[in-house]
Amino acid sequence: MTDLPIIDRARGFASRTAFFGPGGDVTYADLLMRSAAVASGLLAGKSDLEEERIAFLLPTGADYAATQWGIWRAGGIAVPINGGATVPEIEHVLTCAGVARVVVAADRLAVLGDLPERLALEVLDFDALEGDGPLPELKPSRRAMILFTSGTTNKPKGVVSTHASIEAQVTALVDAWQWQADDRIPLFLPMHHLHGILNILCCALWSGAAIEPFDKFDADAICDRVAEGAYSLFMAVPTIYVKLLKWFDAPENTSKHDGVLKGFNAMRLMVSGSAALPASIHSAWSDLTGQVLLERYGMTEIGMALSNPYSGERRPGMVGLAMPRTDVQLVDDAGKVVSGEGAVGEIWVKGPTVFNEYWDNPKATAESFDGDWFKTGDIATIENGYYRIMGRSSVDIIKSGGYKLSALEIEAALLEHPAITECAVVGLEDTEWGEKVAVAVGLNEGALTLEALQDWAKDRLSAYKLPRALLVVDALPRNAMGKVTKPAVKALFP
Ligand code: ATP
Ligand code: MG
Repeated sequence: MTDLPIIDRARGFASRTAFFGPGGDVTYADLLMRSAAVASGLLAGKSDLEEERIAFLLPTGADYAATQWGIWRAGGIAVPINGGATVPEIEHVLTCAGVARVVVAADRLAVLGDLPERLALEVLDFDALEGDGPLPELKPSRRAMILFTSGTTNKPKGVVSTHASIEAQVTALVDAWQWQADDRIPLFLPMHHLHGILNILCCALWSGAAIEPFDKFDADAICDRVAEGAYSLFMAVPTIYVKLLKWFDAPENTSKHDGVLKGFNAMRLMVSGSAALPASIHSAWSDLTGQVLLERYGMTEIGMALSNPYSGERRPGMVGLAMPRTDVQLVDDAGKVVSGEGAVGEIWVKGPTVFNEYWDNPKATAESFDGDWFKTGDIATIENGYYRIMGRSSVDIIKSGGYKLSALEIEAALLEHPAITECAVVGLEDTEWGEKVAVAVGLNEGALTLEALQDWAKDRLSAYKLPRALLVVDALPRNAMGKVTKPAVKALFP
């Protein structure tokens, strides 16, 4: 019988540990057995789920993986739900994907609120799913998963991946970052998003590696395990590195520094992605731990497309070069492909990693492709041969006084200010400039005026990039992935 490659590969790792931690170890053999039972339970006598969308809501860990695999092995489409989302957010996911059945861990049921009744959902208790029957044979072109985008710019869109596109995304990463069976990685990112699901869960299980699951990120818990040398690999979003730097700043943690620093230093790779990593954080982290973070760029629709090299130079503020199995080009406003030093344009991506469709949204799908090329909506430039992300054309590229400014570049500069802990730059409509640069900042102390900020920034930014409006906030609006939601930032300004 031919099986999905990730299942076939797991048979080769049967006695290895897939999940470890205080909850006990789970082997690949356990995962294979449990996922077969989930598949049979879902099939309930049918021979194939035929792309039924099955949603699931489980804590990060072996049961989550067994459910994902179980849905796949039964021929269904896996739709993970964010356990931290609100009822209306979950409703959007379930109705958009046309879900009728949800697998739930008993203690998570309350997250669904009144949805089971209101949407007439069949709720399946994970622990009660069992069975032992034949499973269908599946082609790689079969649809496998619907992941919703983070909703940074608009309502989340349902991105459909096939088994083939998932395999292409996984193998590109496994090659690029040299995943090995003896890798050990913590997993504390939300499990409804590409970063946790693909870059960590799928890559680790593809490789025979081991995962320590956490329900959420807790700097104390992670640092304790890092000091014990628990991990060889670490993948996180920029806000996590900011939290870790704060952990080192807290006086009560000083006695633990040596052990934790040694643990971070000994890892073979630490990665940042999902949002821009300010160069100041990149440098602070390498100064402190000796680890040069590898920043990469990707999105739900295409997996990872650009990455700093595993073995070459990793540059702060840069996202490196095209990933294996991925063609990347920049296209300017006039629709012309531009290349070489200083080129600026929208990132277009082509190859087997690219998705085919947004679920039930042919219009959005059609608008986002030009032939085989997927138009990402992100603007980048090439500096010393590496790509640098300037931001999203819709919210981060500010058209001011005839210039096109990168919000990300201005944010990176302002973050060097000693009082600024976080900042978000947006363009506000302005009769004189077209758009004017506005910034919302979080402060660690005292007050900051626009004049003082401009005065400080004028040696670092050209005059036309200087902020013309300033708002001090307690916290920037962020989504579940910790990304700043720019439309919400804009709305803060009077
Ligand atoms: P939505 O599409 O719903 O607005 P989203 O685009 O944030 O949400 P994701 O697919 O999770 O949803 O995120 C992909 C986006 O994240 C990219 O298009 C890019 O704008 C941003 N991104 C990812 N990695 C980086 C990076 N290293 N630097 C800058 N931006 C990044
Ligand atoms: Mg997007």
